[in-house]
Amino acid sequence: MKKILVGLFIFLTINTIAQKSSLIKCGKLLDTKTGKVLENQYILIKNGVVISISSSTVTADTIIDLSNYFVMPGMIDAHTHLLLQGDITSEDYDVQVLKESIPYRTLRASKSAAQSIQNGFTTIRDLGTEGAGFADVDLKKAINRGVITGPRMQVATLAMNTTGHYPLKAADYSWELKFPKGVIEITGADEARRAVRQQIEQGADWIKIYADRAYNRLEDGSFRSVPNFTTEEINAIGDETIKSRKKLAAHAMTRDGILAAINAGAISIEHGSGMDEECMKIMAEKGIFWCPTLFVNEYVAEGRAKMGSMINLYFQQSIEATFKKAIKMGVKLTYGTDIGGYDWSLPQAKDFTYFVKWGLTPVQAIQTATTTAAELLGMQGKIGVITAGSFADIIAFKKDPLKDISELQNVNFVMKEGKVYKHN
Ligand SMILES: [Zn+2]
Repeated sequence: MKKILVGLFIFLTINTIAQKSSLIKCGKLLDTKTGKVLENQYILIKNGVVISISSSTVTADTIIDLSNYFVMPGMIDAHTHLLLQGDITSEDYDVQVLKESIPYRTLRASKSAAQSIQNGFTTIRDLGTEGAGFADVDLKKAINRGVITGPRMQVATLAMNTTGHYPLKAADYSWELKFPKGVIEITGADEARRAVRQQIEQGADWIKIYADRAYNRLEDGSFRSVPNFTTEEINAIGDETIKSRKKLAAHAMTRDGILAAINAGAISIEHGSGMDEECMKIMAEKGIFWCPTLFVNEYVAEGRAKMGSMINLYFQQSIEATFKKAIKMGVKLTYGTDIGGYDWSLPQAKDFTYFVKWGLTPVQAIQTATTTAAELLGMQGKIGVITAGSFADIIAFKKDPLKDISELQNVNFVMKEGKVYKHN
């Protein structure tokens, strides 16, 4: 009997906690759908979900006073690597893969996941574990079950390339040793299909491919590369992915990778730093998302140039013009940083500053990481907005980021699904 009573007490307690409502008083509230800033709004939250937004107060169990803050939905980073901790050189990369076990890398990743929340990014699309197997699925599970703190995740697991085209580079080591790879490597359409099926079986939401390599700049300033997959291979990947109702994301730098990936069914082009006008035209027509990952390129450019690889520096020189042209041509822009490719202690909201410097309004810049990224993730109305029925993913700033976009790097308040993780 005692046991039953204790059980009943615990049940009731959990139930009452879960059902407690909270009310956020917002000084300014950004409506990411319309781009309008509303004043003195009240957000009612229950069970981790937004119940209502109104201009007059309602009763609630707890009141959170953000009347001196600028309030908006939690941000979405559509290109992260929780399991990487910065890799300017191939040596940085190899050290992580060779000297850190997957459990150790996963522990570091759980710290990165907590960092993402502190940065105000409450949802991420994590695009490949870089040799850490399916540890992203475990991270997602641990976050969803409340074991660790982190953002809502969509994951890509292994990521794919063709045999011999991804680090670790065998030629850097004794040929008689067997080394781990940062992706799953395939040869032939059948292996491609098998790899897609295996990743989906293990929990991949996305299939990530590396569509091209060996980037070079031509004399006229345009960029070319070598496609990694045969047409049969890449089309088999796209076909298998789409049939399984999953989505294809392609790391692709120039038209040689971008056009092949789009033909195969990719809906997002990652980096795309060397894209040309034809790519932009097709991307705009088909509504393909461009995830430009700007700060990471700047971050690695000099270090890689010192090691003799100039290409990131060349992309750095041309990206402003490429970006401006793409925006003018109507390419759909989504926010993604490639953080993990640079250190998780560096800003995750840095790319917004380039967006605004190169022509977007602050509101448009914020929409790339809210409404547009939600569309990419197929979660419209649930994330990237604060509306009745959306997750209570809410962030706030003491200083108005519409006046200075770099303020997005100084988030003061973070709530995910109704739980407060930061308030200062
Ligand atoms: Zn990446």
